[in-house]
Amino acid sequence: MSVIVQKFGGTSVANTEKIQKVAHRVAEAQARHPEGVVVVVSAMGKTTDVLVNMAKELSSRPDPREMDMLLATGEQVSISLLSMALQELGLKAVSMTGAQAGIITENLHSKAKIVHIDTDELSRFLSEGYVVVVAGFQGVTTDHQITTLGRGGSDTTAVALAGALKAPVCEIFTDVDGVYTTDPNSVAGAQKLSEISYEEMLELAQLGAQVLHPRSVECAKKYKTVIHVRSSFNLHEGTYVKAMKDLEIQRPVTGVTADCKQAKLALKDVPDRPGIAAKVFGTLAQANISVDMIIQSVQEDLSNDIAFTVHEDDLDQATEIIK
Ligand code: ADP
Ligand code: ASP
Ligand code: MG
Repeated sequence: MSVIVQKFGGTSVANTEKIQKVAHRVAEAQARHPEGVVVVVSAMGKTTDVLVNMAKELSSRPDPREMDMLLATGEQVSISLLSMALQELGLKAVSMTGAQAGIITENLHSKAKIVHIDTDELSRFLSEGYVVVVAGFQGVTTDHQITTLGRGGSDTTAVALAGALKAPVCEIFTDVDGVYTTDPNSVAGAQKLSEISYEEMLELAQLGAQVLHPRSVECAKKYKTVIHVRSSFNLHEGTYVKAMKDLEIQRPVTGVTADCKQAKLALKDVPDRPGIAAKVFGTLAQANISVDMIIQSVQEDLSNDIAFTVHEDDLDQATEIIK
């Protein structure tokens, strides 16, 4: 048997009653996985949104360092409450922040990538029989700054931990029964997929299917971790995200997705000279802003219009840079 990593999203831990239910589910997993259970949790319900809005009430462009300091508190509430609920069931449980769990990230606020996980301390707790409850979505830089991994980033914490601990499966518990052909909360006829390849899932996630954070899928592919996306409210089998050969995939289309958080920027009358577009997109890349769709029109008079999309959270910064 091996370690299992389970992740519970915000809706699964939205109140103390739900946290108790999660605790029971974790206790069952502990009975089945004597080598250890690591649980990753998100902030309760809409906590992260509430924190973002409070910051915006005080500042139009909150300082990125302080923003990460603020947002990281959400997950800290859930880990401590879940640990208490587990202890109440008679289990040994300990909570760890991202920093305590050894999650080292690059030096970038609000969308840092994990560069390394030092699992020594976490593994020591596991070997002593503790359920380890880790705060999702956060890490720490080598110079002790708290960072966050981008909205929805707890999935990535869980899958990265599974990779570091060589856990073959990472269970992602959420508010739907698995990965569907499209968002089941928007389209009544959406169908649940029993399995999906890393490549298909990565594409859906990058194009806006919120159910998994895109980097969690990249990470799973890298470490060959199977992700089991399933409901935290029932015991049904969910969707397995795993390596699949092209031949095994019989469908021409796997899913449809929409990203409603894109913002469009348009530059008018850009001189039609080699190097101008590189300057625009290179500068944005240096600021870690990823550009999605680019449309460049051709005009007769030696100038162009260039329009492109960025995530709406990056709009203000991108506008400033472009100006
Ligand atoms: P959690 O808080 O558990 O991380 P999220 O809200 O981040 O949950 O992700 C789950 C949501 O993703 C679902 O409630 C659903 O509305 C949305 N979603 C979008 N596309 C899909 C899809 N193709 N399959 C399943 N869920 C999807
Ligand atoms: N709490 C964070 C968010 O709302 C991270 C997560 O839920 O995965 O984006
Ligand atoms: Mg999520």
